[in-house]
Amino acid sequence: MSIYLDNAATSFPKPESVYRAVERAMRHAGGNPGRGGHRFSLDAGREVLETRETLARFFAVEDAARIVFTSGATEGINLALFGLLQPGDRVVTTSMEHNALMRPLYALQQRGIEVEQVKTGRDGIVDVSDLQRACRVPTRLLAIGHCSNVSGSIQPLETIIPWCREHGILTLVDAAQSAGHLPLSVNRLGVHLLAVPGHKGLLGPSGTGFLYVDPELRLEPLLYGGTGINSTMRTMPEDLPERLEAGTLNVPGLAGLRAGVEYLQQQGPERLETSLNELVERLLAGLEAVPGVTLYGPARGERRGNVVSFNLAGMDPAEVGYRLEQQFGICVRVGLHCAPDAHRSLGSFPGGTVRVSPGIFTSPEQVEKLLTAVALLSDPSARNENG
Ligand code: PMP
Repeated sequence: MSIYLDNAATSFPKPESVYRAVERAMRHAGGNPGRGGHRFSLDAGREVLETRETLARFFAVEDAARIVFTSGATEGINLALFGLLQPGDRVVTTSMEHNALMRPLYALQQRGIEVEQVKTGRDGIVDVSDLQRACRVPTRLLAIGHCSNVSGSIQPLETIIPWCREHGILTLVDAAQSAGHLPLSVNRLGVHLLAVPGHKGLLGPSGTGFLYVDPELRLEPLLYGGTGINSTMRTMPEDLPERLEAGTLNVPGLAGLRAGVEYLQQQGPERLETSLNELVERLLAGLEAVPGVTLYGPARGERRGNVVSFNLAGMDPAEVGYRLEQQFGICVRVGLHCAPDAHRSLGSFPGGTVRVSPGIFTSPEQVEKLLTAVALLSDPSARNENG
């Protein structure tokens, strides 16, 4: 049996209830939501509405209509950046960001938007005073990831977001690695834009996600098309979510996403976070004890997400990943993880790292198997033996 330790890419497996919800929606909510008055359309519309409301409760969003469905975090980030920024605007970001954030920013730089990337420490955590210094030059937006997909480093959002609000700076948070794993309250944090994937910590199917949009913001759409309302208008409607949701929504995916969030609520997000933290701590302690292992990111005992990156002396990360799967049936992700600057910050560029990311269905035994496998690979005389 293979062991899946790549939950930072997408969570797998999903709760049984997610598989069931997708199938139920496909079979019994088969109409097009918001596109008709007949029962099939209404049933599909109800699925969509209930998912929106479930997400609003989970993330403490006051008005569920400010939740705009997307295909994942990437689309949410693109919608936020291209929908908001104008030539002449300035954006502050960090050196730990994923290409999902950096590539749209580079594209926007070509259109006259200024971007400053603030360097983090070797632990991948940005200094609040460095961000504040960068924001002294009039800045429209701070765009920042909550938790690194390379090192699990968690950024100090609780300090910087309220500070930005006080200083009239808008904020966009990429919650790709934190949503579902770390507490996130839109209401408490005061974030203006929050991009969330449905398929990672929220346990939904791929092709799902959302962007939360603050009531004071009016974004330009990324997609133009039918919305089921105001059909005679040549322009997109003003109202959210329709303004930013052209085209038919992914009803089965959204039904699955609701089931994923309901599963988290039933299990208790705090309890799940605690047991995931225990697995991460065990991973860090176990890897630290293996000769030749270099660990990246925050020190042991510090808060981090469910991501651990390491290298093994004398072995390319790609070889480690290959052997982990071939010899031990363990699936991890290796390389640059779509975040080259993060590796520059952590000291693992250009080779990248081996990334291990447990999920809520990872067992302590699976973590022990990974540790045993890495220990065997670290011993050159044992490298060719089967584990
Ligand atoms: N940001 C970060 C930090 C990520 O790890 C990822 C996914 N690897 C993304 C954005 C993109 O998310 P999605 O796959 O949902 O578009």
